[in-house]
Amino acid sequence: MIPFSKLERYEGNAHLFELVMMSVVAAYAGEPLHIHAEGLRGTGKTTIMRAARGILPRIKRIKGCVYNCDPTNPHCPEHRGLSKEEINKIGVEEINMPFLEISHSAKVGTVAGSIDLAKLTDPTHPEARLLPGLIPQAHRGIIFIDEINRLADTSPEITDILLDVMGNKPGHLQIEEAGLPAVELPISVSVWAASNPDEDPGSLEEIRRQLSDRFDMVCYMGRPDSVDVLSHMLEENSHFKKMHVYGQEINDDGNERYRRDISQWSQNYEKIEMPDFLRNFIARLYIKHNLESIRAIEAMQQGALLHSVLRGRDKVSINDVIEMVPLVLKHRVDGDTLIRLINDVGVKGPKDGILNFKGRKNSKNSKDNDTEYFQQNARPLKDMSRGELINTEKSLTPDEF
Ligand SMILES: [Zn+2]
Repeated sequence: MIPFSKLERYEGNAHLFELVMMSVVAAYAGEPLHIHAEGLRGTGKTTIMRAARGILPRIKRIKGCVYNCDPTNPHCPEHRGLSKEEINKIGVEEINMPFLEISHSAKVGTVAGSIDLAKLTDPTHPEARLLPGLIPQAHRGIIFIDEINRLADTSPEITDILLDVMGNKPGHLQIEEAGLPAVELPISVSVWAASNPDEDPGSLEEIRRQLSDRFDMVCYMGRPDSVDVLSHMLEENSHFKKMHVYGQEINDDGNERYRRDISQWSQNYEKIEMPDFLRNFIARLYIKHNLESIRAIEAMQQGALLHSVLRGRDKVSINDVIEMVPLVLKHRVDGDTLIRLINDVGVKGPKDGILNFKGRKNSKNSKDNDTEYFQQNARPLKDMSRGELINTEKSLTPDEF
Protein backbone atom coordinates (compact mmCIF):
# COMPACT_ATOMS: atom_id res chain seq x y z
CA MET A 1 0.00 0.00 0.00
CA ILE A 2 1.40 3.39 -1.01
CA PRO A 3 1.63 5.71 2.01
CA PHE A 4 -0.80 8.63 2.08
CA SER A 5 2.04 11.13 1.83
CA LYS A 6 3.29 9.53 -1.39
CA LEU A 7 -0.03 9.45 -3.24
CA GLU A 8 -0.09 11.56 -6.37
CA ARG A 9 -1.89 14.89 -6.06
CA TYR A 10 -3.39 16.73 -9.00
CA GLU A 11 -6.20 19.14 -9.59
CA GLY A 12 -8.89 16.48 -9.90
CA ASN A 13 -8.22 14.95 -6.48
CA ALA A 14 -6.93 17.99 -4.58
CA HIS A 15 -10.26 18.62 -2.88
CA LEU A 16 -10.48 15.08 -1.56
CA PHE A 17 -7.01 15.29 0.02
CA GLU A 18 -8.08 18.53 1.63
CA LEU A 19 -11.40 17.16 2.90
CA VAL A 20 -9.72 14.07 4.33
CA MET A 21 -7.25 16.20 6.28
CA MET A 22 -9.97 18.54 7.47
CA SER A 23 -12.08 15.63 8.64
CA VAL A 24 -9.25 13.94 10.52
CA VAL A 25 -8.40 17.21 12.29
CA ALA A 26 -12.07 17.73 13.15
CA ALA A 27 -12.48 14.15 14.39
CA TYR A 28 -9.39 14.49 16.58
CA ALA A 29 -10.80 17.71 18.02
CA GLY A 30 -14.02 15.85 18.82
CA GLU A 31 -16.29 17.41 16.20
CA PRO A 32 -17.04 15.12 13.25
CA LEU A 33 -16.94 16.30 9.63
CA HIS A 34 -18.78 14.01 7.22
CA ILE A 35 -17.39 13.84 3.69
CA HIS A 36 -18.44 12.13 0.48
CA ALA A 37 -16.32 11.61 -2.64
CA GLU A 38 -18.22 11.06 -5.85
CA GLY A 39 -16.63 10.02 -9.09
CA LEU A 40 -16.05 7.41 -11.72
CA ARG A 41 -14.39 4.13 -10.92
CA GLY A 42 -10.61 4.31 -10.97
CA THR A 43 -10.30 7.93 -9.88
CA GLY A 44 -8.69 6.87 -6.60
CA LYS A 45 -11.41 7.90 -4.15
CA THR A 46 -11.20 4.79 -2.00
CA THR A 47 -7.40 4.58 -2.31
CA ILE A 48 -6.99 8.05 -0.80
CA MET A 49 -9.54 7.45 1.93
CA ARG A 50 -8.10 4.07 2.92
CA ALA A 51 -4.51 5.34 2.82
CA ALA A 52 -5.49 8.03 5.32
CA ARG A 53 -5.52 5.27 7.93
CA GLY A 54 -1.72 5.66 7.93
CA ILE A 55 -1.82 9.28 9.12
CA LEU A 56 -4.36 8.90 11.90
CA PRO A 57 -3.15 10.10 15.30
CA ARG A 58 -3.39 8.06 18.45
CA ILE A 59 -6.10 8.58 21.05
CA LYS A 60 -6.36 7.72 24.75
CA ARG A 61 -9.16 5.53 26.02
CA ILE A 62 -10.12 3.76 29.20
CA LYS A 63 -8.16 0.54 29.14
CA GLY A 64 -9.90 -2.19 27.18
CA CYS A 65 -13.08 -0.16 26.51
CA VAL A 66 -14.52 -1.38 23.20
CA TYR A 67 -16.60 1.80 23.00
CA ASN A 68 -13.41 3.94 23.15
CA CYS A 69 -14.37 5.87 26.27
CA ASP A 70 -12.49 9.12 26.60
CA PRO A 71 -11.00 8.96 30.13
CA THR A 72 -12.07 12.57 30.71
CA ASN A 73 -15.60 12.01 29.41
CA PRO A 74 -16.66 8.35 29.63
CA HIS A 75 -19.89 7.61 27.76
CA CYS A 76 -20.34 3.83 27.53
CA PRO A 77 -22.81 1.83 29.66
CA GLU A 78 -19.97 0.33 31.66
CA HIS A 79 -17.94 3.47 32.38
CA ARG A 80 -20.22 6.49 32.35
CA GLY A 81 -20.54 8.08 35.74
CA LEU A 82 -17.27 6.62 37.04
CA SER A 83 -15.11 8.89 39.19
CA LYS A 84 -11.61 9.92 38.24
CA GLU A 85 -10.21 7.56 40.86
CA GLU A 86 -12.22 4.64 39.56
CA ILE A 87 -11.00 5.33 36.02
CA ASN A 88 -7.41 5.59 37.23
CA LYS A 89 -7.81 2.19 38.82
CA ILE A 90 -8.87 0.64 35.50
CA GLY A 91 -6.10 2.48 33.68
CA VAL A 92 -5.75 4.31 30.39
CA GLU A 93 -4.25 3.12 27.09
CA GLU A 94 -3.33 4.61 23.73
CA ILE A 95 -4.76 3.23 20.51
CA ASN A 96 -4.78 4.32 16.87
CA MET A 97 -7.73 6.50 16.04
CA PRO A 98 -10.25 3.94 14.77
CA PHE A 99 -10.92 3.57 11.06
CA LEU A 100 -13.61 1.00 10.32
CA GLU A 101 -15.45 0.10 7.15
CA ILE A 102 -19.09 -0.68 6.54
CA SER A 103 -19.64 -2.64 3.36
CA HIS A 104 -22.69 -2.05 1.18
CA SER A 105 -24.00 -5.47 2.16
CA ALA A 106 -23.54 -5.00 5.93
CA LYS A 107 -26.18 -6.15 8.42
CA VAL A 108 -27.75 -4.01 11.16
CA GLY A 109 -26.24 -6.16 13.93
CA THR A 110 -22.73 -5.73 12.54
CA VAL A 111 -23.16 -1.99 12.22
CA ALA A 112 -24.96 -1.13 15.46
CA GLY A 113 -24.45 -4.08 17.78
CA SER A 114 -25.73 -7.53 18.61
CA ILE A 115 -25.83 -10.05 21.42
CA ASP A 116 -22.36 -11.32 22.34
CA LEU A 117 -22.63 -15.00 21.50
CA ALA A 118 -19.22 -15.90 22.92
CA LYS A 119 -20.23 -14.54 26.33
CA LEU A 120 -23.67 -16.07 26.13
CA THR A 121 -22.34 -19.55 25.40
CA ASP A 122 -19.40 -19.37 27.81
CA PRO A 123 -19.73 -22.76 29.63
CA THR A 124 -18.30 -21.51 32.93
CA HIS A 125 -19.94 -18.10 33.15
CA PRO A 126 -22.70 -17.57 30.55
CA GLU A 127 -23.86 -13.97 30.38
CA ALA A 128 -26.17 -12.00 28.06
CA ARG A 129 -24.23 -8.93 26.93
CA LEU A 130 -24.12 -6.59 23.98
CA LEU A 131 -21.31 -6.68 21.47
CA PRO A 132 -20.96 -3.17 20.07
CA GLY A 133 -21.01 -2.96 16.26
CA LEU A 134 -18.77 -1.05 13.90
CA ILE A 135 -20.21 2.40 14.58
CA PRO A 136 -19.88 2.39 18.38
CA GLN A 137 -16.40 0.86 17.99
CA ALA A 138 -15.41 3.71 15.67
CA HIS A 139 -16.33 6.34 18.28
CA ARG A 140 -13.83 9.25 18.10
CA GLY A 141 -12.63 8.05 14.70
CA ILE A 142 -13.70 7.36 11.15
CA ILE A 143 -16.32 5.13 9.53
CA PHE A 144 -15.75 4.53 5.83
CA ILE A 145 -18.55 3.40 3.51
CA ASP A 146 -17.66 2.56 -0.06
CA GLU A 147 -20.61 2.54 -2.48
CA ILE A 148 -22.88 4.36 -0.08
CA ASN A 149 -25.49 4.73 -2.81
CA ARG A 150 -25.90 0.95 -2.93
CA LEU A 151 -26.13 0.72 0.85
CA ALA A 152 -28.80 3.44 0.94
CA ASP A 153 -30.70 1.67 -1.81
CA THR A 154 -30.74 -1.80 -0.28
CA SER A 155 -30.68 -1.13 3.45
CA PRO A 156 -33.12 1.49 4.74
CA GLU A 157 -32.46 0.28 8.32
CA ILE A 158 -28.75 1.08 8.17
CA THR A 159 -29.55 4.35 6.44
CA ASP A 160 -31.78 5.26 9.39
CA ILE A 161 -28.95 4.45 11.80
CA LEU A 162 -26.61 6.71 9.81
CA LEU A 163 -29.20 9.50 9.86
CA ASP A 164 -29.18 9.35 13.68
CA VAL A 165 -25.41 9.07 13.95
CA MET A 166 -24.89 12.00 11.56
CA GLY A 167 -27.89 14.01 12.73
CA ASN A 168 -26.05 16.05 15.33
CA LYS A 169 -22.46 16.49 16.44
CA PRO A 170 -22.18 14.25 18.40
CA GLY A 171 -24.94 12.06 17.05
CA HIS A 172 -26.58 9.15 18.82
CA LEU A 173 -27.08 5.45 18.44
CA GLN A 174 -29.53 3.04 19.96
CA ILE A 175 -28.57 -0.62 20.16
CA GLU A 176 -31.49 -2.95 20.57
CA GLU A 177 -31.38 -6.69 21.06
CA ALA A 178 -34.32 -8.87 22.11
CA GLY A 179 -34.22 -9.70 25.81
CA LEU A 180 -31.67 -7.00 26.69
CA PRO A 181 -32.30 -3.42 27.74
CA ALA A 182 -31.74 -1.00 24.84
CA VAL A 183 -28.50 0.93 25.04
CA GLU A 184 -28.44 4.59 24.02
CA LEU A 185 -25.04 6.12 23.25
CA PRO A 186 -23.69 9.47 22.11
CA ILE A 187 -21.57 8.82 19.01
CA SER A 188 -18.88 11.02 17.57
CA VAL A 189 -17.67 9.54 14.29
CA SER A 190 -16.76 11.20 11.03
CA VAL A 191 -18.47 9.34 8.22
CA TRP A 192 -16.52 9.09 4.96
CA ALA A 193 -18.28 7.79 1.90
CA ALA A 194 -17.50 7.13 -1.73
CA SER A 195 -19.79 6.43 -4.64
CA ASN A 196 -20.07 6.46 -8.38
CA PRO A 197 -23.26 8.36 -9.22
CA ASP A 198 -23.11 7.19 -12.82
CA GLU A 199 -23.49 3.54 -11.88
CA ASP A 200 -26.54 1.77 -10.51
CA PRO A 201 -28.47 2.74 -8.42
CA GLY A 202 -27.54 6.37 -9.19
CA SER A 203 -26.53 9.26 -7.02
CA LEU A 204 -27.13 9.36 -3.28
CA GLU A 205 -29.05 12.61 -3.65
CA GLU A 206 -31.64 10.82 -5.75
CA ILE A 207 -31.81 7.70 -3.58
CA ARG A 208 -32.00 9.27 -0.15
CA ARG A 209 -31.77 13.03 -0.19
CA GLN A 210 -31.90 13.21 3.60
CA LEU A 211 -28.76 11.10 3.93
CA SER A 212 -27.02 13.07 1.20
CA ASP A 213 -27.68 16.28 3.14
CA ARG A 214 -26.04 14.77 6.24
CA PHE A 215 -22.69 14.97 4.44
CA ASP A 216 -21.09 18.28 5.24
CA MET A 217 -19.12 18.29 2.04
CA VAL A 218 -19.06 16.46 -1.26
CA CYS A 219 -16.28 16.57 -3.79
CA TYR A 220 -16.35 15.31 -7.32
CA MET A 221 -13.22 13.46 -8.43
CA GLY A 222 -11.59 14.33 -11.71
CA ARG A 223 -9.19 12.19 -13.70
CA PRO A 224 -5.51 13.10 -13.94
CA ASP A 225 -4.83 14.75 -17.27
CA SER A 226 -1.08 15.34 -17.26
CA VAL A 227 1.56 12.96 -18.58
CA ASP A 228 3.89 13.82 -15.70
CA VAL A 229 1.28 13.01 -13.09
CA LEU A 230 0.33 9.72 -14.76
CA SER A 231 3.91 8.67 -15.27
CA HIS A 232 4.72 9.40 -11.63
CA MET A 233 1.65 7.43 -10.56
CA LEU A 234 2.92 4.45 -12.52
CA GLU A 235 6.30 4.72 -10.86
CA GLU A 236 4.83 4.84 -7.34
CA ASN A 237 2.58 1.95 -8.17
CA SER A 238 5.24 -0.31 -9.64
CA HIS A 239 5.79 -3.75 -8.21
CA PHE A 240 9.45 -2.88 -7.64
CA LYS A 241 8.65 0.15 -5.55
CA LYS A 242 6.01 -1.63 -3.53
CA MET A 243 8.37 -4.54 -2.80
CA HIS A 244 11.56 -2.66 -2.11
CA VAL A 245 10.61 0.80 -0.96
CA TYR A 246 7.27 0.64 0.84
CA GLY A 247 7.23 -3.06 1.80
CA GLN A 248 5.65 -3.54 5.20
CA GLU A 249 6.43 -0.11 6.37
CA ILE A 250 3.37 2.08 6.18
CA ASN A 251 4.51 4.68 8.70
CA ASP A 252 7.03 6.48 6.55
CA ASP A 253 8.36 9.91 7.53
CA GLY A 254 5.74 11.76 5.50
CA ASN A 255 2.89 10.07 7.29
CA GLU A 256 4.55 10.72 10.63
CA ARG A 257 4.79 14.42 9.82
CA TYR A 258 1.09 14.49 8.99
CA ARG A 259 0.35 12.92 12.33
CA ARG A 260 2.24 15.65 14.17
CA ASP A 261 0.56 18.35 12.11
CA ILE A 262 -2.88 16.92 12.78
CA SER A 263 -2.35 17.14 16.51
CA GLN A 264 -1.15 20.75 16.20
CA TRP A 265 -3.97 21.72 13.83
CA SER A 266 -6.56 20.23 16.17
CA GLN A 267 -5.26 22.37 18.99
CA ASN A 268 -5.42 25.44 16.76
CA TYR A 269 -8.91 24.52 15.61
CA GLU A 270 -10.10 24.61 19.20
CA LYS A 271 -8.86 28.20 19.52
CA ILE A 272 -10.01 29.75 16.24
CA GLU A 273 -13.28 31.68 16.02
CA MET A 274 -15.39 32.86 13.12
CA PRO A 275 -15.48 36.65 12.95
CA ASP A 276 -18.96 38.19 13.02
CA PHE A 277 -18.76 39.71 9.56
CA LEU A 278 -18.11 36.30 8.01
CA ARG A 279 -20.93 34.73 9.96
CA ASN A 280 -23.20 37.44 8.63
CA PHE A 281 -21.84 36.85 5.16
CA ILE A 282 -22.78 33.16 5.35
CA ALA A 283 -26.19 33.98 6.81
CA ARG A 284 -26.87 36.37 3.93
CA LEU A 285 -25.98 33.69 1.39
CA TYR A 286 -28.51 31.43 3.05
CA ILE A 287 -31.30 33.97 2.84
CA LYS A 288 -30.47 35.46 -0.54
CA HIS A 289 -30.21 32.10 -2.29
CA ASN A 290 -32.90 30.35 -0.29
CA LEU A 291 -30.55 27.53 0.69
CA GLU A 292 -32.99 25.56 2.92
CA SER A 293 -30.36 23.43 4.65
CA ILE A 294 -29.07 24.87 7.89
CA ARG A 295 -26.51 22.06 7.83
CA ALA A 296 -25.10 23.63 4.68
CA ILE A 297 -24.21 26.89 6.38
CA GLU A 298 -22.99 25.13 9.51
CA ALA A 299 -20.68 23.10 7.28
CA MET A 300 -19.55 26.27 5.55
CA GLN A 301 -18.50 27.72 8.89
CA GLN A 302 -16.80 24.55 10.15
CA GLY A 303 -15.08 24.03 6.79
CA ALA A 304 -13.79 27.58 6.52
CA LEU A 305 -12.26 27.37 10.00
CA LEU A 306 -10.56 24.06 9.20
CA HIS A 307 -9.41 25.30 5.81
CA SER A 308 -7.70 28.22 7.47
CA VAL A 309 -6.17 26.09 10.25
CA LEU A 310 -4.64 23.71 7.71
CA ARG A 311 -2.79 26.66 6.24
CA GLY A 312 -1.31 27.54 9.60
CA ARG A 313 -3.29 30.74 9.92
CA ASP A 314 -5.07 31.94 13.03
CA LYS A 315 -7.54 34.10 11.13
CA VAL A 316 -10.32 33.01 8.84
CA SER A 317 -10.62 34.94 5.62
CA ILE A 318 -13.47 35.34 3.23
CA ASN A 319 -11.55 33.15 0.79
CA ASP A 320 -11.75 30.27 3.25
CA VAL A 321 -15.52 30.60 3.12
CA ILE A 322 -15.63 30.98 -0.65
CA GLU A 323 -13.51 27.84 -1.14
CA MET A 324 -16.14 25.90 0.79
CA VAL A 325 -19.11 27.04 -1.29
CA PRO A 326 -19.00 24.41 -4.06
CA LEU A 327 -18.04 21.62 -1.64
CA VAL A 328 -20.87 22.39 0.72
CA LEU A 329 -23.54 23.09 -1.87
CA LYS A 330 -22.87 20.78 -4.78
CA HIS A 331 -25.18 18.10 -3.40
CA ARG A 332 -27.70 20.48 -1.91
CA VAL A 333 -28.71 22.90 -4.63
CA ASP A 334 -29.33 22.62 -8.35
CA GLY A 335 -26.60 23.45 -10.84
CA ASP A 336 -28.01 26.86 -11.79
CA THR A 337 -28.27 28.02 -8.19
CA LEU A 338 -24.72 26.83 -7.54
CA ILE A 339 -23.33 28.78 -10.49
CA ARG A 340 -25.30 31.89 -9.52
CA LEU A 341 -23.97 31.60 -6.02
CA ILE A 342 -20.36 31.08 -7.07
CA ASN A 343 -20.56 34.04 -9.40
CA ASP A 344 -22.14 36.06 -6.63
CA VAL A 345 -19.30 35.43 -4.17
CA GLY A 346 -16.67 35.49 -6.93
CA VAL A 347 -13.08 35.91 -5.85
CA LYS A 348 -11.44 39.26 -6.49
CA GLY A 349 -7.77 39.93 -7.14
CA PRO A 350 -5.38 39.54 -4.20
CA LYS A 351 -4.68 43.23 -3.77
CA ASP A 352 -8.12 44.45 -2.91
CA GLY A 353 -10.02 41.28 -2.25
CA ILE A 354 -8.55 40.53 1.14
CA LEU A 355 -10.61 41.53 4.10
CA ASN A 356 -9.54 41.67 7.68
CA PHE A 357 -11.51 40.66 10.73
CA LYS A 358 -13.61 43.81 10.86
CA GLY A 359 -14.73 43.34 7.32
CA ARG A 360 -12.72 46.24 5.99
CA LYS A 361 -10.35 46.00 3.12
CA ASN A 362 -6.89 46.06 4.64
CA SER A 363 -4.85 47.19 1.70
CA LYS A 364 -2.29 48.92 3.92
CA ASN A 365 -1.17 46.03 6.02
CA SER A 366 -2.04 43.27 3.66
CA LYS A 367 1.34 41.60 4.00
CA ASP A 368 -0.25 38.87 6.05
CA ASN A 369 -0.28 35.18 5.27
CA ASP A 370 -3.65 35.57 3.68
CA THR A 371 -2.30 37.60 0.85
CA GLU A 372 0.61 35.30 0.32
CA TYR A 373 -1.54 32.26 0.35
CA PHE A 374 -4.09 33.79 -1.90
CA GLN A 375 -1.49 34.89 -4.41
CA GLN A 376 -0.22 31.35 -4.57
CA ASN A 377 -3.63 29.89 -4.86
CA ALA A 378 -5.53 32.46 -6.86
CA ARG A 379 -7.38 30.53 -9.48
CA PRO A 380 -10.90 30.51 -10.76
CA LEU A 381 -13.27 28.39 -8.76
CA LYS A 382 -14.40 25.31 -10.50
CA ASP A 383 -18.00 24.38 -10.93
CA MET A 384 -17.78 21.04 -9.21
CA SER A 385 -20.96 19.71 -10.75
CA ARG A 386 -19.87 20.20 -14.32
CA GLY A 387 -16.12 20.18 -14.01
CA GLU A 388 -15.72 23.31 -16.08
CA LEU A 389 -14.14 26.60 -15.23
CA ILE A 390 -16.57 29.38 -14.73
CA ASN A 391 -16.22 33.11 -14.45
CA THR A 392 -15.42 34.22 -10.94
CA GLU A 393 -14.26 37.72 -11.74
CA LYS A 394 -17.30 39.34 -10.19
CA SER A 395 -16.43 40.73 -6.81
CA LEU A 396 -18.21 41.28 -3.56
CA THR A 397 -19.74 44.65 -3.14
CA PRO A 398 -19.24 46.41 0.19
CA ASP A 399 -22.96 46.34 0.96
CA GLU A 400 -22.86 42.54 1.01
CA PHE A 401 -21.32 42.94 4.42
ZN1 LIG B 1 -16.21 2.68 28.26
